[in-house]
Order: sequence, then C-alpha cells, then structure tokens
Amino acid sequence: MMPYKSKIMVLAAHPDDEVLGIGGTLIKFKEKYKCTINIEFLTTTPSCDRWRKAKKISEILGSSINRPDCVIDKDMAPLTLEKNLTKTIAEYITKRIDIIKPDFILTHYGNDLNNDHSKISEATLVACRPYLTSHNIKGVFQYEVPSSTEQNLQNIFNPDIFIEIDDLTWDKKVKLIDIYDKEIKDYPHPRSKKGIDTLACYRGVHVGYKRAEALKTMWRKI
Ligand SMILES: [Zn+2]
Repeated sequence: MMPYKSKIMVLAAHPDDEVLGIGGTLIKFKEKYKCTINIEFLTTTPSCDRWRKAKKISEILGSSINRPDCVIDKDMAPLTLEKNLTKTIAEYITKRIDIIKPDFILTHYGNDLNNDHSKISEATLVACRPYLTSHNIKGVFQYEVPSSTEQNLQNIFNPDIFIEIDDLTWDKKVKLIDIYDKEIKDYPHPRSKKGIDTLACYRGVHVGYKRAEALKTMWRKI
C-alpha cells in the first residue's frame, strides 16, 4: 500500500492520536519502508505538555512534526473545533500539502465521536479532493483511535487495510505509549494498555496476524 520511500503526512487532532492509532505503522513505515513521515497536530499549543511529549516521540520516530501558528483558532485546544471551521482547516492542510508534497495522507475517521477528529477528517477530504491537480497525492486513508472511534456505535469503523505489527515493533509502540502516560487509563478503558493491545490483537485476527493496526481507504489512485 505504501511504496518504499514514500512521503506520508499524518493529520492528528491531538498529540497521542498518532501513537495510539498508528504508532506501530509509523515505526514500520519509517524503519522498514524508509518513508518520510510528517505529523501535523491541529489542536495543540506550544506550551502544552502533550506537545512537548510529541516532540520527544518525533525524535524517536525520526519524523517531523508541525502545528498551526494560531491559523485555525486562537483559542485552539482539544474539543474546540465545534464551529464551522472545515474551510479554514482545509486551507491550512492545503498549505501544508504544498510544502510537504505527500504521497499519502493518514487522517482521522470521519465518524469519530471526538468532534476535533471528525472535523479534521472532513477538512482532509476537502483539501485532498482527488480531481485537484495542485497536489500529487496517491491515497487518503483513515485510522482509528481507541476511546474515540469505537465509541460511535452507530457508525462502526470498517477497515480494509491491515498493517502487521510484529512483537519488536509492538514493544517500540508500547514505549511511545508510556511517554503519553497521562492519557493512559486503567483497564477496561479502551485507552488502557490492555485495551490498546486488545484492539491490535482483534485487528490482527481479522487477517491472520498476531497484531495489526487498521486503516480505511477514503480514496486511492493507482
Ligand atoms: Zn484525539
């Protein structure tokens, strides 16, 4: 799905979404497929503890990270994307696409219960319309985030791509999860370590892997 040495842009509302959702995938794409990874966090401030942790994680991952300079909303904070900001977010994403020139985009699931996630997903579709010739994106995919995606029981995430996460990669992901320690809850919370592992095992058994992370295709050009 992700060819060797491709440029991948990850759109995330909050620092922790990238690790909880696709931490293993990013490790694998970086180490095995030599991909370039850029992560855009759309609702965080420089003074935020989670932003500092995201920076630390990006150093471990070998990725670059970025956040808007108050472009989207001066009061930007988690759960504040409730206004009709789709156009503004899409314009920001477009600007970043012009700079990064990604081959593939990974974004939130459009029906995530967390409104920041679903807004970003909608804005991604607007910014990455497949007919646009201003970008050279080959595919857009959605990822799931435990405690947000599965909580919308009316619109279940139905993935069609499964990335195998081997034991070594899983151990590396767990170390990244440990950095976001304040976001991790006790089992049976979906964002507990056991909950996150259970999801990975569940996605794995869909396709005969011990563990997997799953994506849903929004669109793809071949
Ligand atoms: Zn989030």
